[in-house]
Amino acid sequence: MIYLDYAATSLKRGDILKYIMENKELFDANPDSVHSMGRRASALLDQARGKLADSICAEPDEIIFTSGASESNNWVLDNFRGDEIVSSKIEHASILNKLDHTDSKITLLNAGQDGLIKVEDIKRAVNDQTKLVTIQYVNNESGAIQPVKEIGEFLKDKDVWFHVDCTQALGHIKIDINEIGCDSASFSGHKLGGLNGFGFLYARKPLENLIYGGEQENKRRGGTSFVAGAFSMSESIEPMYKENESLRELKKLMLENLRVPYEVNGDLKVQSNHILNLYFPFERNDLLMTYLDMNGVCVSAGSACSAGSPEPSYVISNMYDEDRARKSIRFSFGFANKKDDIIKTCDLINDFYERNENG
Ligand code: PMP
Repeated sequence: MIYLDYAATSLKRGDILKYIMENKELFDANPDSVHSMGRRASALLDQARGKLADSICAEPDEIIFTSGASESNNWVLDNFRGDEIVSSKIEHASILNKLDHTDSKITLLNAGQDGLIKVEDIKRAVNDQTKLVTIQYVNNESGAIQPVKEIGEFLKDKDVWFHVDCTQALGHIKIDINEIGCDSASFSGHKLGGLNGFGFLYARKPLENLIYGGEQENKRRGGTSFVAGAFSMSESIEPMYKENESLRELKKLMLENLRVPYEVNGDLKVQSNHILNLYFPFERNDLLMTYLDMNGVCVSAGSACSAGSPEPSYVISNMYDEDRARKSIRFSFGFANKKDDIIKTCDLINDFYERNENG
């Protein structure tokens, strides 16, 4: 298999899973238990919290463990029910679908063909009533890196909460949360090679709880702690940053080896290294994904969160139009990809084109 769907979820890192299995007793107990096994698990949780905080230049008590970025995003939006909110049409479903259920007055901005939300549009949309601005750092479908620092600079002296969904940014772009100047931010472990179902919310100021329960997370989020999840995420960040340059090479290699008509969706100059979204203007484009799948190549069109649905990507539709979105495929790269995987994938696309379009 050739896995080019890391933006949906990364393959899990074997060395980390092996460590967890070989040291299972460290992860077994509930860290809130006062016995020695509990205390050991608690120490591991603290260690992970410290590393995760360091990775975004935050303080450990600003990090609240959650089940992932969807929960973190929902949590923040839940605090702004009924308020005026500014966001964009290309946010992740955990923002857009939650906004549909908040009775808020929402302004959703469009992206340009470069995939970017314009700071000028934010400035125009924010008014005296605005309580929240929520914008992602890196788009999960186009890879576009949004101007979050400029937005943070604009909002700095205003009484507006600024939330940034950093799910696709961590591991790819160095994050200093203070430089962004946001009040909260979401993160997820499984995009980096950690276990699914673990992430965290960075919150600089208090929020009303979303999940009440035990006294975990300093009484801010109930639920038995996921020690292996926290550990796996905290150990995945450093390798991810080290691998990042090689992902840029893979992206370049793909563009060099395609001998078919294609266009890049968005602007390569403002994109993360791990995502490449391509438009293939062929007649039989609808069969291309199936052809790649039949030949062992895993890619996506649209986001995995709407998988199984025949809908084209709303992100690419917003940047261009629906027809282009229907003929676009997202390739996303990660630690297990080799140059050979990319060349084989390009060969398959080239062969498909030769047979179906030129034959
Ligand atoms: N935001 C973005 C930008 C994402 O890419 C994703 C995952 N597709 C999420 C939020 C949701 O993350 P999780 O799976 O951890 O809930």
